[in-house]
Parts: sequence; structure tokens; C-alpha cells
Amino acid sequence: MSRATAATIHLGALRDNLRRVRELAPGSKVMAVVKADGYGHGLERVARALQGADAFGVAGIADGQRLRAAGISQRVVVLSGPDDPGDLAEMRRLRLESVIHHDAQVEWLAADVDPRPLKIWIKLDTGMHRLGFAPERARELHARLRDLPSVERDIGLLTHFANSDVFDDAMTTQQIERFERALTGVEGERSLSNSAGILGWPEAQAQWVRAGGALYGISVVAGKIGADFGFRPAMTLTTRLIAINRVRKGEHVGYAATFECPEDMNIGIAAIGYGDGYPRHADGGTPVLVNGTRANLVGRMSMDLITIDLRNHPGAKIGDPVVLWGRGLPVEEIAMHADTIGYELTCGVTRRVRFVEDES
Ligand SMILES: *Cc1c(COP(=O)(O)O)cnc(C)c1O
Repeated sequence: MSRATAATIHLGALRDNLRRVRELAPGSKVMAVVKADGYGHGLERVARALQGADAFGVAGIADGQRLRAAGISQRVVVLSGPDDPGDLAEMRRLRLESVIHHDAQVEWLAADVDPRPLKIWIKLDTGMHRLGFAPERARELHARLRDLPSVERDIGLLTHFANSDVFDDAMTTQQIERFERALTGVEGERSLSNSAGILGWPEAQAQWVRAGGALYGISVVAGKIGADFGFRPAMTLTTRLIAINRVRKGEHVGYAATFECPEDMNIGIAAIGYGDGYPRHADGGTPVLVNGTRANLVGRMSMDLITIDLRNHPGAKIGDPVVLWGRGLPVEEIAMHADTIGYELTCGVTRRVRFVEDES
């Protein structure tokens, strides 16, 4: 039998989550963000499940190539745009849209002689200081790009929030104001909000929202899980118990002997470790589900295996299912134990793990 470790991707949850985003942002088109292999859920699989999205957002051209090769015909926006001038031809060939965030890219477009215009989105940096032009340049850039034969006249306009998951943070208010002020009188569809923006900043929904985490059922709002906002987890990571060992009081479990048994007890060994993308920093006390009920990790995990305190699971036996995150066990909770966010965990599931799809 193959290794038991599997990531089940719930296609029905992906579809429901898209519906929920539409419900929350009824006046906006939805760009489904599928970068990083669909946040680890599988790019093509996610795109097929989310055919109802108005566009897909990807980080680079390679993802656009994969989407087109898979027969996905929707609009695709490359969120970091061309990396070199040669990319422009490939973007045209594949009908990819491009975010333009830097003067170097403007010059590549200006030097481009292909008469078939590209659809572009100008990105403004309203305070995050990662990608984008200073807002006060919006007008000048828009006018210049619009007149280039290599650019479609209908230009989109976007910005990205740094802190929208904190629902009362003045920084987001300031970013919204800077964006609107810079674009007064400038024509074009606007897009500001990521998932947290959709949830906490309805005034910023504009013509397009860009939903990533919400579609996978994951929240980055502190202390909240996707379900608190009506989303369902799209990935459940599971394995099985492959051994149950009786360990005596005073003995230690795992590398570096970090756990000492306070009494004679059963330790369950499950077939998953950091080689599968389970976070090595998850602390003792991180929950798993054994046969659907909670148990805690003990000791330090290894590449292929974790060790579980089975004191509350007297009936557990070899082969029993163990859920690491997903249905019944929010990935956000595991992320907290591992000092990270749910996104990083789903993105980090490795190639060794078998991916399975279900319709629910
Ligand atoms: C990743 C990303 C998003 C989606 O963010 P979520 O928090 O996952 O919703 C939106 N816009 C841009 C530019 C991004 O890079």
C-alpha cells in the first residue's frame, strides 16, 4: 500500500467559498487568486473548480502558461507583470493581462512594437511599500500608457493593503484615501481588496475584489477561522496511525528527548512529518484528530513521523485515521501552534503527499 498521507481537496468547498465571496461583495467582480499552486491546493484543479470566477490572479507567467495548457479560458492577471521585455510576447500569445508596477516595465511597453494591445493594470503603492508606483504619479502614468499602441486603452487600477486583517486599523483607511485621491478623474476599473479587505472593509470593494485565502476557507484575521466568516476549509490533510507503543513513566519520546512520559502511556505514531510539509515548529500540545477526536502531539516531530499522546484514546488501533488539519480541525489553529499563518501551511504541503479530490 502507498503511504497513507493524503491531502483531500474539497471542490464543493471551493465553489461554496466563491459563492460566499460574491455574497460579501455583491457589486464586485471576483479575481480568484491562485498563485503558489492555488495556495498549495493545485493550480489547475482549483481553477477548474472556480470556473465561475471573473478572472484568475497568478504571481508569474509560468502559472498563466499552466492555466492555458489546462484549457482555462478565463481572464488571467499576472500580478507582478513581465520580468523581462521578452515576456510581453508570451503574455500576448496566451492572452494574459499584466500588472505594471515599475518604470522598467513601462519602458518595455514603450519600446514594444507589436500592434496587438495588452490589457494592463497599473499598481499604486498606497503605503505597503512593496510593489507599485507612488500615487501622485497615477495620472501621468495612466495618460502615457494609454497612448501607447502596445497597451489596451481600458486600463485597470489596483493597490494592495498591508494590514486589512486588522479591521479598525487606520492604515487601511489611509490607503483607501490615498488611492481614491490619486485617481480622481482617472478612468478605469479599480481593485483594492484582498480577502481580509472583503471581510472588513466593504467600502473598498470597488469593481474588483481579489480573493485568495477566503476561497480556500482560510482566515488571516487574528483569533478567527474561515468558518467564522462563512467559509469552508478546502483542504483536509490526513494520515494513519502506523504504530502504537506502550512507553513507561519517566521515558522520553523523540529527538532531543523533549517529552518525558508522566505515567505509563500509549504513544501513537502517525505517518507524516516535515517531509510532507507538516510544520516542524508545531509545539507539543498541537492538536490532531484521531478517529475524529482530539489528541495532542508530544515530543519533537521528525521528517516522516509524528508522535501522539493517546491517553484519551484507549480504543485507537493501527490504521486509524489521523487528521492534521482541515474539516474538524482548523488550519488556523495549527498555524498558531507553529507560529505562522494557515496560508503557509497549505502552500507547504510537499510533492510526496498524494492529492485526492472530492466533490463535497
Ligand atoms: C496574494 C494576493 C491577493 C490575495 O490575498 P488573500 O489575503 O489571500 O486574499 C490579492 N492581491 C494581491 C496583489 C496578492 O498578491
